[in-house]
Parts: sequence; C-alpha cells; structure tokens
Amino acid sequence: MSDSAQMAARARLFEAIEAREDELIDLIARLVQQPSVLGNEAGAQAVIAEYLRAGGQEPDIWEIPDSLLERPGAGNSGVPFAGRPNVAATLAGVGGGGKSLILNGHVDVVSPEPLANWHYDPWAAQIAGRRMYGRGAYDMKAGLAINMYLARLVRELGIPLKADLTVQSVIEEECTGNGALSACYRDDTRYHADAVIITEPSNGTYTAAHVGVLWFRVEVLGQAVHAAVAWKGVNAIYRMLPVIEELRALDAEMNQESHPLFEGIEHPINLNIGVIQGGDWPSSVAGACAIDCRLSMYPGRTVEETRARVLAAVERATERDGWLVEHPPTVTWYGFQSAGSEIAPEEPLVRALALHHERERGTPLRPRSGTGTNDMRNFMVYSDMPALCYGVSGFGAHEADEWLDLDSLVPTTKVLGAFLLDWCGVAAQG
Ligand SMILES: [Zn+2]
Repeated sequence: MSDSAQMAARARLFEAIEAREDELIDLIARLVQQPSVLGNEAGAQAVIAEYLRAGGQEPDIWEIPDSLLERPGAGNSGVPFAGRPNVAATLAGVGGGGKSLILNGHVDVVSPEPLANWHYDPWAAQIAGRRMYGRGAYDMKAGLAINMYLARLVRELGIPLKADLTVQSVIEEECTGNGALSACYRDDTRYHADAVIITEPSNGTYTAAHVGVLWFRVEVLGQAVHAAVAWKGVNAIYRMLPVIEELRALDAEMNQESHPLFEGIEHPINLNIGVIQGGDWPSSVAGACAIDCRLSMYPGRTVEETRARVLAAVERATERDGWLVEHPPTVTWYGFQSAGSEIAPEEPLVRALALHHERERGTPLRPRSGTGTNDMRNFMVYSDMPALCYGVSGFGAHEADEWLDLDSLVPTTKVLGAFLLDWCGVAAQG
C-alpha cells in the first residue's frame, strides 16, 4: 500500500530517472569499455567505486579471502583474488520499519572471442539506433549501472529510506560465483538483507528457477610414439572418445528426468564439452588428452550426487577400454561447483516486484526458468535470503554482437525504483 511520502518520493525519483538517463548510459558505456574478463576486473571496479564516491557514498572495497574457497558453493577459478576486489555501498535506513534490500550485479564478462564473429568492437560501447553493442552491455553492465544509479538518485534526492539499501558489484559470476558468495559471507560480518534483486538481463521476466552447474576436467594418458609407427602407440585422443560418448549419454539420461519448473523447455540440462586439448605434434601419437566440461543439474539436486553421476559415466567408459582399465582417466573439479535454486511465487519479494512491474509495464510479470546458472543461488541456497533476477532487454549474452536495448533502461529502472521505495519504505519528512 502506498502512503503519501512514498508516492511523492516515487514521482521525484521517476522524474530524475528520466531526466538523467544520459548519465546512466554514460556509466554503462564506461563499464563496457573496461574489458573485465576473469582476472581483469579491477578497471571496471574502479569505475564503480569512482561513481559511488562522486555520488557521496564511500565504497566498501574488499578482496575475497582465500578461506572462502572452503565454503560450500565456492569454486576455484585458478586466478588469485589479489587486486580483483568486490565493491559495495549501503545507504543506511533511518529506521521505523521497512525491509532491507540488496541490489546485486556482476562486473565480470566472458571473452568476446572469436573476434572475427563481431561486426562491432566489443569494447567500444558503440550505439547504433537504440542499441548499445559490446561485450557486457547486456550481461550485465546495464543492470550493474542501474543499481548504482538508483542508489545515487535516492541519496541525491534526499529520499529517507526506512531500511538499508545495499548495492554490490561482484566478480567471478561467470565461472564460480565466489564474488556474490563473499558478499554474503564477508568474513563474519557479511551483508544480509530481507531480499536480493540481481539485475541480470531478463527481458522483463523474473528468474523463478535456475540450474546448478559443475565444471570439471577429464584427463587421459596414452603412449606417445613416432607417427611412422602410430599403430604401436596409444593415442590419448582416441582413448577419450568413449569418455565423451558416456558423458553425452549422461546428458541424454538427465534430460529424461523432469522438474516442474522446467517443463516445456527443450533440453533443459546441458553437458558442454567446451575445451579439448590433446597431443602436441602432428607426427607424434598424442600421449595425453584433456577435456573441460560444464554440466548442469536441476535445482534440488546436489553437487555431490551430480559429481557421482559424472564419475559413474567415466567409469563406464573405462570399462569399455582395456587401456583405460590399466590407466584410468582422472577427473578434477574446478570452477562452478554449485547447486541451482528456485523462489516460490508466493514470496513477498516476487509479489511486490510483480505489482510494480505490472503497474509500470502494463503486463504481468512472468517467471522464467534459467538453463544457465547465476548468482541467485548464493543468496537463496548458501545464505538464506530470498533472491531473484530481473532486468533489462537486449540479446547476445556470451555471443558476438551482444547488444543492450536502450529503450528498456528507463522502464526497468522505474520498476526497480518503485519497488525499492515500497520495499525499503519511505519515512515522512519534516
Ligand atoms: Zn550475467
């Protein structure tokens, strides 16, 4: 229910959201121009910190402690945490009720390779028509910028929120989720709130559920010999073939299983063999071969049971091949090691967001089940905070010519702004 303080605040916030849209677009562009792939997030985080300071907020900047790697849900990217901080800032509530809120976003992006597929410079944030092209423009520097922009507008307009509003810019969403996990778990004084919205691009839907993801590497050893007598050697590339076949059979088997929130989605569970490395010389029989894989699982399935299924598939491949019996493949877990999550439609967070989405956009807020993972699980599963993803429109996450629909910026920001005033509450002034 809206009281008069909240309605007045909303009108002022909406006016500012529209009037200062160029500032938002400029912030997104400056973020896209920072190539914040894994290991190189510092420049984009500096842009975030500088924007917060310019708006009068002192950012909390911290590096993830190595001890996080021992936490359930963490994964090892192999890249040291030093010099790659998370950034957050909190607008303190004035008290008197309200519920606290975290607006979260990730600053890391995936590689734009192969560049030959692009028609635009992935790091130039070029605008053509009402689209901004660039790696991360859509996933998810637009959402990240909206979070910072909203906090700044609320502060500069002097709107007194009853409860705390925290904005976060985290690393490693694309490979482990460690950044968000650290924001929840920060030492012993982690950030906690009554709800979390991750402003991932969602084309105006919300993420009701998403899969969990495992990364792993399988390595097979062969016996290198000169290719002139190739028949005498053991080609590790050939020996990997039964492993690949059994993993693909596991993918088929897991897609025979169902989950109510994933019904009607074609091939919801996906094994991807994303990297293969084998041998080192055309005239030498390949003595070693390795594959790097990603496998998803329905929410509710555990990391442990899914790992056991992978190991069983590799075991089946081993049994098919005499050499492999003598030289068993090794499996190493790294990167994502995290369950999926889901949020019930009755959750107050979902209901409140749906109300404001419908009011501002004129259409019902529809749920979406994600066949990729996102940081929602870190809040839902590993920190016990209701969370969902909601954000802008566009296309091409992890693809060439990724673009952001600039026309979605103001409407999305208004929904989030109206929601946060309602959720956090606005104190009467004077
Ligand atoms: Zn994302």
